[in-house]
Amino acid sequence: MNINKHYLELEDSYLFSTIAKKVNEYAQKNPSADIIRLGIGDVTLPLAPIVVEAIKKAADEMGKQETFKGYGPEQGYAFLREAIQKYYLRKNVSVEADEIFISDGAKSDLGNILDIFSLDNTVLVPDPVYPVYVDTNIMAGRKIIYADANDSNGFLPLPDDKIKCDIIYICSPNNPTGAVYTKDGLKKWVDYALKNDSVILFDAAYECFIKSEDLPNSIYEIEGAKKCAIEFCSLSKTAGFTGTRCGYTVVPKELVKQNAVLNKFWVRRQTTKFNGVPYIVQKAAEAVFSEEGQKQIKKNIQYYSENAKIISDTMDKLNIWYTGGKHSPYIWLKCPNNMTSWEFFDFLLEKAAIVGTPGSGFGKNGEGYFRLTSFGNKERTIEAMERFTKLINK
Ligand code: PLP
Repeated sequence: MNINKHYLELEDSYLFSTIAKKVNEYAQKNPSADIIRLGIGDVTLPLAPIVVEAIKKAADEMGKQETFKGYGPEQGYAFLREAIQKYYLRKNVSVEADEIFISDGAKSDLGNILDIFSLDNTVLVPDPVYPVYVDTNIMAGRKIIYADANDSNGFLPLPDDKIKCDIIYICSPNNPTGAVYTKDGLKKWVDYALKNDSVILFDAAYECFIKSEDLPNSIYEIEGAKKCAIEFCSLSKTAGFTGTRCGYTVVPKELVKQNAVLNKFWVRRQTTKFNGVPYIVQKAAEAVFSEEGQKQIKKNIQYYSENAKIISDTMDKLNIWYTGGKHSPYIWLKCPNNMTSWEFFDFLLEKAAIVGTPGSGFGKNGEGYFRLTSFGNKERTIEAMERFTKLINK
């Protein structure tokens, strides 16, 4: 018996546990402190009414003999795949319903997709990054190289022809930096992937925050992308499904590598190792894509976007360099006075009772940066920014 030794190579993630520990210690020492949390990556607004109605109706169906459902199709029910297909069409992207796979969220699929790729592929991951891309590849034992994201490229690294890689992760709008690729930027990656026979894993979990027609919501807005890219999306941030769990992955049939149609590989992988998302959840997701559902979820997205604007306006006023905010729920700021990420974390907590996330927790290039999120309450965000302004102006 041999264990998978690659698990021993994983670095313990101390980021959120250290934050929790520091905040607890602070709260114990300052019991009357009114702590505002701008560190959370989870949503706070409840599900839209139309989604709740759909869940209740689906639950009733499950309780009646005539409408009860057992195992569903592993790839998702046609009603949801077709609803998502229409959602893509509104963005002028045409994908076939059987290129769309329903899952319990983007995180699972981002990890599971690696099943269809060889272990000897080299993986390119931006730094700083959503840690799942790194850890899933370490677990499998793949070689990882990093693309530096920093203030000189606006945290949007572009391909380097001298560096060869097989699997490329791109997240736009980005977590943690909130930076968004333009079509030109994404085209450079698509061209690189086509030229080097690489596959792009495009994480569009935050696409609903994009407010400009000129910025791409999907990598398939770029010509040639269907030949080199798989796209992951989620209802977590779009419609508050972090606890309800539903996402989708697009594997185009045009994506053919070494004569293998990767869509077929993914069908085989899912039908072998996955038994589908609950009918009730798929009905809830279908409601999100209805006309009324889109109206209702946009209200929530708008609410978070207003919080993001409150934060980014404050950074503008204080002349603090940042990315994100406009097309993203994240604001990624340069720590004032050359503080390190953790120094700024302590400073903000101790002097203003505000909690954010130290950028260094997302990779070495995150050192000296800090992430604030807009998923909180509006009044509390305003209060936090008043305290922030007073503190920096002191
Ligand atoms: N991708 C990115 C970049 C994320 O930040 C997150 C969640 O925070 C996910 C994927 C995971 O989404 P899901 O809840 O659908 O698993």
